[in-house]
Amino acid sequence: MRLILLGPPGAGKGTQAVKITQKYDVPHISTGDIFRKNIKEGTQLGKKAKEYMDKGLLVPDELVVAIVEDRLKEADCKDGFLLDGFPRTVNQAECLDKVLDNMNTSLDRVINIKVDKGILVGRAVGRRICRDCGAAYHVEFNKSKVEGVCDVCGGELYQRNDDNEETVSKRIEVYLNETSPLIDYYFTKNLLADIDGEKHIDTVFEDIVLALGSEN
Ligand code: ADP
Ligand code: ADP
Ligand code: ZN
Repeated sequence: MRLILLGPPGAGKGTQAVKITQKYDVPHISTGDIFRKNIKEGTQLGKKAKEYMDKGLLVPDELVVAIVEDRLKEADCKDGFLLDGFPRTVNQAECLDKVLDNMNTSLDRVINIKVDKGILVGRAVGRRICRDCGAAYHVEFNKSKVEGVCDVCGGELYQRNDDNEETVSKRIEVYLNETSPLIDYYFTKNLLADIDGEKHIDTVFEDIVLALGSEN
């Protein structure tokens, strides 16, 4: 299955991505995770991306598209993939269409996780991430069993640099201006599945499975 997860920052894309990739056995491709890995490793790409990420701005399309294109050509994407946080602009979406076209393939579904703006800031500011495996928790809504420690791997939990109120608000504004036009873009292509992201994490996942029911 070839899938995209669309939604504003804090909607629950990463949380649902873990569940979807387990159930459907497709690789999880998160452009945000790729950039954070590069920042951690101190690469040139990481240095460039950090300038934008710290301000809550989008990394320029030409940097992002090349990375995703290379990743989609890897062997594990042959039978499917889940893109999380990409595309984020209409230009990125058009580039993705071309890349997939050249590979003689196309998207199956775009899952649009909808969450009211008023809820998003609290979600993102309370988010904690595992340094080692990237699992996401929330200080209130999705606590780890032991505070500050990852349930999955025992790694240390940290708060992302860009998960402060000011940067999150900027990211939501950027989402509304630059990314939300993709809802229409994929609706027109008959690919969109709207999901209510305000329900419990497990219920959101059940709704996604239902929406994907007719896919194989
Ligand atoms: P995104 O990848 O869309 O930015 P995440 O999956 O990282 O979002 O979720 C943002 C934060 O909200 C995390 O701390 C996560 O634990 C929490 N969260 C995710 N889904 C829900 C939900 N349905 N209800 C409450 N909190 C949620
Ligand atoms: P969130 O899960 O909160 O939506 P991400 O981890 O997806 O956050 O993204 C964090 C930051 O990484 C974004 O604010 C942006 O600066 C950068 N980024 C990630 N994906 C893209 C993309 N497809 N295009 C441009 N910038 C991106
Ligand atoms: Zn972990």
